[in-house]
Amino acid sequence: MRISTSTSILNPVFPIFLKQWFSTNPNLITLFNKYVDKTNVSSWNSVIAELARSGDSIEALRAFSSMRKLSLKPDRSTFPCTIKSCSALLDLTSGNARKLFNELPKRNVVSWTSMITGYIQNEHAHEALSLFKEFLMEEGDGGRESGVFIDSIAMVSVLSACSHISQNRTTKAFHGFLIKRGFEGDLSVANTLLGAYAKCGDLTIARKIFDEMPERDIVSWNSMMAVYAQNGLSAEALNVFYGMLKDGDLNFDAVTLSAVLLACAHSGALQLGKCIHDQVIKMSLEDNVFVGTSIIDMYCKCGRVGMARRAFDRMKEKNVKSWTAMVAGYGMHGRARESLEVFYEMQRAGVKPNYITFVSVLAACSHAGLVEEGWHWLKTMNQDFNIDPGIEHYGCMVDLLGRAGYLDEAYELIKGMKVKPDCVVWGALLAACRIHKNVKLGEISARKLFELDPDNCGYYVLLSNLYADAGRWEDVERMRIFMKNHRLIKPPGFSLVEVKGRVHVFLVGDKEHPKHEEIYGYLEILSVKMKEAGYVPDTTSVLHDVDQEDKETVLRVHSEKLAVAFGIMNTVPGTTIQVIKNLRVCSDCHAAIALIAKVVNREIVVRDSYRFHHFKDGLCSCGDYW
Ligand code: ZN
Ligand code: ZN
Repeated sequence: MRISTSTSILNPVFPIFLKQWFSTNPNLITLFNKYVDKTNVSSWNSVIAELARSGDSIEALRAFSSMRKLSLKPDRSTFPCTIKSCSALLDLTSGNARKLFNELPKRNVVSWTSMITGYIQNEHAHEALSLFKEFLMEEGDGGRESGVFIDSIAMVSVLSACSHISQNRTTKAFHGFLIKRGFEGDLSVANTLLGAYAKCGDLTIARKIFDEMPERDIVSWNSMMAVYAQNGLSAEALNVFYGMLKDGDLNFDAVTLSAVLLACAHSGALQLGKCIHDQVIKMSLEDNVFVGTSIIDMYCKCGRVGMARRAFDRMKEKNVKSWTAMVAGYGMHGRARESLEVFYEMQRAGVKPNYITFVSVLAACSHAGLVEEGWHWLKTMNQDFNIDPGIEHYGCMVDLLGRAGYLDEAYELIKGMKVKPDCVVWGALLAACRIHKNVKLGEISARKLFELDPDNCGYYVLLSNLYADAGRWEDVERMRIFMKNHRLIKPPGFSLVEVKGRVHVFLVGDKEHPKHEEIYGYLEILSVKMKEAGYVPDTTSVLHDVDQEDKETVLRVHSEKLAVAFGIMNTVPGTTIQVIKNLRVCSDCHAAIALIAKVVNREIVVRDSYRFHHFKDGLCSCGDYW
């Protein structure tokens, strides 16, 4: 029996095979020595992973140590499992972990780093740092006497532990040491350091490390791009991608393409997304479940749910994330029935839904006002699937109930929640109170929101509008003065539109765009045509302290209108216009865009912070329910 050298940890067959093998043979390492290709890091990784998974942490660490004795350089896959073993070891022995360590007959660099990473993993940063100091003491004079010394591999292992707990302070402490010892120039150390800072959200330092790297490999490029994409900085992510293309020497891989697809999804860059899809097909990566899922997500978020479905149907292997992406995709387009169909199909295929799947299911119900289904799944997720409803599930349910007019039920649900309600939950109730003009509950929710997020202007505006609807002008004035005194400024709305492969950004009343004069001129023409078609500006979305004429002007220059106009001006008749808005689209823009779609005979798709609106022939797919 010989394990092929091409077998890697990514091959699911291998670990299962190993498990059976191991369960009948107690002396694992002996067997390992006999059969596995010892020069192959992947084989070692599989063995370490399997041992760690089966809970035999000591054997896993021993395997790691043997691997290092053979002068094999561990790769990225080696560390997570080794660290897992260390943490498990720490858990098993808890307060006596240290004793075990002290009793080790011979402590080497592996046992030291294992112990340190174990502490970091269990969030005992203080102990980890003091142990690290002891390690330095034992190392003494560069390890000449003790034979124990810190190398880059040890540093990579410590830093990957830091990236797992996303603790900036701990990362910084080790970073200082790295500089002192001159480990910064080591590529894998620098990559892991970049990853650790990225994980705790320190993008500036991550970028600095990236910029100062003397050499970069695909891991460096991929991490930098992924960090930007995951934090919603799509333009930066794409810039890194273009930089990588310019570099020329590197072949990108599945990780690269997934990160680019994520950036496309965020910014609605459909054309680029399609090019990446072509590239995926060219590289035969379509069957990679990770990439395939990113493609589904990209098409859904770029407004092409049909294309997403076709890609989904072609996927040979689907995991829970792929199914969930499709459930969520239909949901955000208001196609709740199809969303639930996919969800049932997923269960029939034997894939167990997870926490996120249920968020997507409840969001789909809320976008379509399916109250009964919502209640059903909120109960079932716990009863049948053993998943406790979390804050996101409650947020969807409160939104669903509230907008459907069941305000008291929504309030009761919040009061009975096992988790502390957050801004999303109270914000959903407040927005529903505005729709249904319930001042009493609106005030209760607003008070909670002011406590939780005192600087967010949006809640004050919502409450103020609620008062205005009820004709309580004194309260409106009180809110206005409060906002003025506290210098609360409404976050600027902006919209994105992709034209000829380039994404254009528009702000409210934007005069920065080089073509702004033509855009305003075109909007004037449109506005005449719209008024002929029966358009009356709805000014209720504007704070009530501006007079009627001002209100109309403010509305006309909302960023989504500018983006729509620019899109129409720069595409051939018949082309679908696709716009992304960072806030919820206001009721006036909603009505206006529906009419624009009619007068110019175009399909206009708007993705706001909440959902998709497909406008066609004067109507919206949301049925004015958003
Ligand atoms: Zn608007
Ligand atoms: Zn709509």
